[in-house]
Amino acid sequence: MQIEFLKTLFTKHKEEALYHRYIHLKDIAPLLKKLESECDVSVIGKSVLNQDIHTITIGNGPKKILMWSQMHGNESTTTKAVFDLLNLLISQNEVSNAILNTCTIKIIPILNPDGAKAYTRINANEVDLNRDAQNLTQPESIVLKDCFERFKPHFCYNLHGQRTIFSAGNTSNLATVSFLAPAQDPDCLITDNRKRAMELIAVMNANLQQQIPNQVGIYDDAFNINCVGDTFQTYNVPTVLFEAGHYSNDYAREVVREYIFQSLVVSLNYIANNTVSGDAYASYLHIPENQKLFYDVIIKNARVVEQGELVDITVQYQERLQGESVVFVPKIEKITKANSFYAHKSYDAKGSLVFTIDNEIVFEGYENDLVILNNEKLSLKLIES
Ligand SMILES: [Zn+2]
Repeated sequence: MQIEFLKTLFTKHKEEALYHRYIHLKDIAPLLKKLESECDVSVIGKSVLNQDIHTITIGNGPKKILMWSQMHGNESTTTKAVFDLLNLLISQNEVSNAILNTCTIKIIPILNPDGAKAYTRINANEVDLNRDAQNLTQPESIVLKDCFERFKPHFCYNLHGQRTIFSAGNTSNLATVSFLAPAQDPDCLITDNRKRAMELIAVMNANLQQQIPNQVGIYDDAFNINCVGDTFQTYNVPTVLFEAGHYSNDYAREVVREYIFQSLVVSLNYIANNTVSGDAYASYLHIPENQKLFYDVIIKNARVVEQGELVDITVQYQERLQGESVVFVPKIEKITKANSFYAHKSYDAKGSLVFTIDNEIVFEGYENDLVILNNEKLSLKLIES
C-alpha cells in the first residue's frame, strides 16, 4: 500500500475522542455505543473490580484475527490505534471491504480495565497479566483464554507499549515500533508457525522502514511460557507482539499511534489478499534487537564532588496520574559515567556541581522539575510539543 494513501486513511479515520496517554473505560464507552450499530459489541467478562471487558467483532470472512490491547493498563497507544482502525473498517471503502469480506476480526480494546483506570501495568490484584498465561489466576487472564478458545483465531495480535529506554539495535536510533514473533519452545526454534508471524512483521517493517528508517526493533525473544504470546504460539497460532515505542518528543504517543494504525492496516490487508505461508519470513531476521540505551535526559560532564571526577546525571520521567491526565516527573536514576548511553534531551554541565532546589548535591532518586546549575535553575520539565 502506498504511504500517501495510508496517511490519508489515518487522517480521515483517526478517532479524535482519544488523545494522549490516559485511556480507560469511560473514554471508550461512547465509542463502543457508536460501534454497536455497525458491528457486534459484547461484554465477555469482568475484571477484578467488576468492570466490563468488551469485544468488538467485525467482518464476515473465514480468516480470523484476535487482537487485545491494554493487557497492561498503562499501555494505551495501541488502544487509540484500534479505534482508528475500527473507524476505517466501518467506513465501507475499498480497503475495508476487502478486509471484511475475507477476515473476521475480534478486538478486546481494554483487557485490563482496572489497570487502565489506575494507570498501572498490573491489574487490581497487582498481577502482571502477561505472566499469568499458564496459571490463569486472574479473571482477565481467563477471559482472554476463553475468548481465544471460543473464537479459534488464525492470527493473534498482542498489543503493547514500550518505555522510552529502547534503541533499535546497538545504535542511537530510537525503537519507535518494536515487534516480536515469540518463541514457542526454550530453544527459540524458527517453527513454521513462527515464520507466519515473522512474515507479517516483515510486511509491516517494510512499510515502516520507508518512513522511520532504522527505528524498528525486535523485542527480547527469551522463551517464557507464562507470557500470553509464547503460550498462544505453543498452540500453533501465529502471534505477533506489537510494542508502540518512542518517537522524538512524542511523549503523548500520537506520532507512533499512526505507525501502529498503518501496521494494523498493512498486515490485515496482507492477510486478506495473500496466503500467509511463512515463506517470506527471512527479512524479519535482519531487524535489529531492542537495546536499553536511552534515558529521557542526561546532564553530561557534571560533578557531585568538588574537584571530583566528571559524571553524567541520567534522568527518567516517571509517569504519574494527576486527575484525568498523565504527567511526567523527572527523577534522577543514576549518577555515573554513561558514555555508551543516549538521551532524548542532553545538557552539558561543563564540569560544574549540580544541586537540588534545596542546595544539596543531587542524588540518585531525586525527583523535581528543577536542579541548580551555576546558581541558576535548570528545568528538566517535559515540554510537550
Ligand atoms: Zn506491555
